[in-house]
Order: sequence, then C-alpha cells, then structure tokens
Amino acid sequence: MFHRTQTVPVRVGNLTIGGSNEVVVQSMCTTKTADVEATVAEILRLEEAGCQIVRVTVNNKEAAEAIAAIKQRIHIPLVADIHFDYRLALLAIENGVDKIRINPGNIGKREKVEAVVKACKEKGIPIRIGVNAGSLERHLLDKYGYPTADAMVESALYHIGILEELDFRDIIVSLKASDVPMAIEAYRKAAAAFSYPLHLGITESGTLYSGTIKSSAGIGALLSMGIGNTVRISLSADPVEEIKVARELLKVFGLIADAPTLISCPTCGRLDIDLFKVANEVEEYLSKLKVPIKVSVLGCAVNGPGEAKEADIGIAGARGEGLLFRYGEMIRKVPEAELVNELKKEIDLIVEEYERT
Ligand code: SF4
Repeated sequence: MFHRTQTVPVRVGNLTIGGSNEVVVQSMCTTKTADVEATVAEILRLEEAGCQIVRVTVNNKEAAEAIAAIKQRIHIPLVADIHFDYRLALLAIENGVDKIRINPGNIGKREKVEAVVKACKEKGIPIRIGVNAGSLERHLLDKYGYPTADAMVESALYHIGILEELDFRDIIVSLKASDVPMAIEAYRKAAAAFSYPLHLGITESGTLYSGTIKSSAGIGALLSMGIGNTVRISLSADPVEEIKVARELLKVFGLIADAPTLISCPTCGRLDIDLFKVANEVEEYLSKLKVPIKVSVLGCAVNGPGEAKEADIGIAGARGEGLLFRYGEMIRKVPEAELVNELKKEIDLIVEEYERT
C-alpha cells in the first residue's frame, strides 16, 4: 500500500501528523464545550474507541476557557475549532489547546492574524486550514461561478500564503465537500500542489448508514492513492461511530496496525446458527480491542472450517452448536448458547498472549 510520505511532519501535542507517520484518526465532540463534564465524558468514550485527536467547538469565551479543565482530564491532543474570532483563538491557545482550526484569511486585519501566528509559534501549536466547498471566499466564487475543486485548492493556497508570509509552516489542510467526486478531485490536486499534511473528510455526509458509505467512497478513493495523513468521518450519529468507521476504513487499506478484523459470512440457506446475532456481538467486543487479531464467524461447515482455519480464532456453525478453531486447529465443539462467551474467552487469551510478546 502506497502512502504519501513526502508531507511535512507537523506536531500536534504528543503526535505527529504527516511525514512517515501512520494516518491519525480523529473526531469532534457534539457537546457544548463549556460543559466540561459532558465534554470530558464524550472524549473519554472516543479515546476508548481509538480516537487519537479530538476537536471541540470554540464559539465563545466560556468554551475557550473550558479547554484548560478539559485538557487536564483527557489523554489525546485537543483541537479548537474557531471561526473568524481571533480573540477566541488567543484564549484557546492560552488555555493550552494543542492545535487550532482557523482560516487566516477569515480573521480580518493583518495585526489579528499576526497575533494568532505569534501565539501559535510561541507554544508550538499548528493551524489547520479548513477549506469547505460551502463557504468559499467571495472572490473565488466570483472567479469560478460556483464551488469547484480548483476553487477549493486556490482557497487553500490563499490561506497557506498568508501563513507562509509570516514564516509559519506548521500547517495542516482539509478540503471538505459533501460532493464526493469534487472532494476527491480537490484533495488530489492539493496533494500535487503543496506538501502540507492533508486532513481527509467528506463533510455533511449524512447518517450512520449513508454517511459511512459516502465517506468510505471518498476517503477510501484518496487513501488508495496514498493521500491523507489524518481522517475524520463526519456522521449525524454518536461520534464513537465515526471512530469505528475510520478505523475500519484504515484497516481495509492496511493503514492501521492495532485493529482487529472480523470475517463473517453473508449467510444463506445452509445457515445452522443465529449468525447475525453472534457476528454483531463479536464485532462489538472486538471494537474495544487494540490488537491485530483476526476472528472469523461462519454460518456452516461448508466454508466455515476453511475460513476459520485462516483466522487466529474462529467458529463454524453446525446444527445447534459451533466448531471452535484456534490457529487453524479445531479445539472443541460448543453449544450455540455458549458460542459468543467461549469465543470471547479465546479472544481474551490471544490478546493476553499478544500483550505479553
Ligand atoms: Fe452459507 Fe455456510 Fe457460506 Fe455462510 S459459510 S454463506 S452459511 S455456505
């Protein structure tokens, strides 16, 4: 799998985005940032799911001030999402945020941009430029008539130019559109136009179902070209679902080292057990693990034993029971009612072995 490595490495808290580093998974809180309890609780759930960077809205003074308290109780870098108001950016930086998302061209007077850049430089904080097809600058809409991939890249270059003029290069760029082909084209052109790391996302992509498909199509196409240094799946759903989808997507392209894989069959008339239930329960259990374990759950003895043998642990259904395989060996028969529990026990043993080595 090719992974574009010639990007500038940019430090965000204790992580580095870009360069030869793994693609980083991130999400955004849905809580009011000033509500520290709710925000911390959501971030801790995101961390448990595998989120590596989290963004919060900073739309008022209370939100900016809450950053200090939130930071004390979480373990991953925190990003402040700011629109227009440079004072909120300064306050967020003062309160210890690890990165800000702000478009320098939207801040206003040069002194304001300079103040933000100076504060970021002093604290070693990067800036993400977030280009969005839905909010392109007036001069670009006048030039192109409507949002296009070229207009998005030009917008990114416009904001990059402002920061580079101030000798600031800790930059990450996103070019989000809800139109998937346009987003793909914009990221592809951006990857050729500059070497700052790219934050991938398909904006306003929809619900868990449609948004997963849309994001996977767009972000998957880009990852397959080796483009992308950090990923955020945007869903109208619990943000934990965004992390699950992102990790699954990275796994497809071999871009994540610590994620389990579940192989489960689509079922057919040969099915001998309640496979949907078993597969869903096992998937939920695996989603919490950070181990590259391969588990197969197959409905019957036709393809089941073959697939189960390829996995670290697996079952093949039989009438009212399942054959349990471990590293290719059938280890025992288990009654259907015990299948999930027995599989979980075996998974735990493999995880323990993995963690010992
Ligand atoms: Fe059908 Fe068995 Fe294949 Fe599942 S493993 S799809 S039940 S033949």
